[in-house]
Amino acid sequence: MSFPGLPPMPDFPTGEVWLAGAGPGDPRLLTLLALHALATADDIVHDALVDSRVLGLGRADAKLIAAGKRGGRPSPHQRDINEILIERARAGRRVLRLKGGDPFVFGRGWDEASALAAAGIRFRVIPGLTAGLAATALAGIPATTRETNHAVVLAAGHRAEDGTLTTDWAALARLGQPIVLYMPMTQLPGTVAALLRGGLSEGTPAALLQSATTENEQVMVSTLGALVADARKNGIGSPAILVIGAVVGLRRQLLRNLVGWR
Ligand code: SAH
Repeated sequence: MSFPGLPPMPDFPTGEVWLAGAGPGDPRLLTLLALHALATADDIVHDALVDSRVLGLGRADAKLIAAGKRGGRPSPHQRDINEILIERARAGRRVLRLKGGDPFVFGRGWDEASALAAAGIRFRVIPGLTAGLAATALAGIPATTRETNHAVVLAAGHRAEDGTLTTDWAALARLGQPIVLYMPMTQLPGTVAALLRGGLSEGTPAALLQSATTENEQVMVSTLGALVADARKNGIGSPAILVIGAVVGLRRQLLRNLVGWR
């Protein structure tokens, strides 16, 4: 694939794995490199979160392999996914490992990259637009403004399966910076309670951004105190991003003129 006026796209040699981010859903938010990878790959090993419209951009004869982890559903073990990538590469395929958002943001991209490195397989990483920043921007919520914050916390609401990492919610609350939470839904009441105990007030603006850039998109603005009840009332489910902090309140000033993603 080539784009007039741009530097040439890299060759995708057989036996190589490209670990790429597919962005939040809408294919128009793919990078040109990810599009090039889709148009070239022999095998596309994709996550459950990768939008079907994105997969539709793959070669008609490409082999699609679903290998996604998804909370609450039976999903392949990470070891098995690593093994598929290594096997396919050794079989001389051009393997595209496609993940929602960015591969290195709560996407287990590191597990796969390090397994490929250990196996002596050449690979390339193609960043993607991460959901936490894309969903917020599209909803008219700035990640930073000069008036409100000089840092943003990206955190995971759902704890690692092996329980090795725990989140100190009180410490995050004390930072006084906006918190962008991935995978917030499974432990929503517990997380919200911990942030309130940690010192955030019930009136802190909070928004749930469900399925950004897809047909199921929903933006729900609330406050930390009312969030759990409001989420239930509005039937908000995964995948969703939770944003907490003053930046959420700024959205109101944009709404009248903000044009949606469609
Ligand atoms: N690597 C991905 C994150 C994977 S973790 C990235 O960089 O975006 C999965 C979580 O991502 C979901 O639980 C949800 O919190 C978030 N997510 C992914 N796509 C989303 C979308 N279109 N809208 C809202 N949240 C999304």
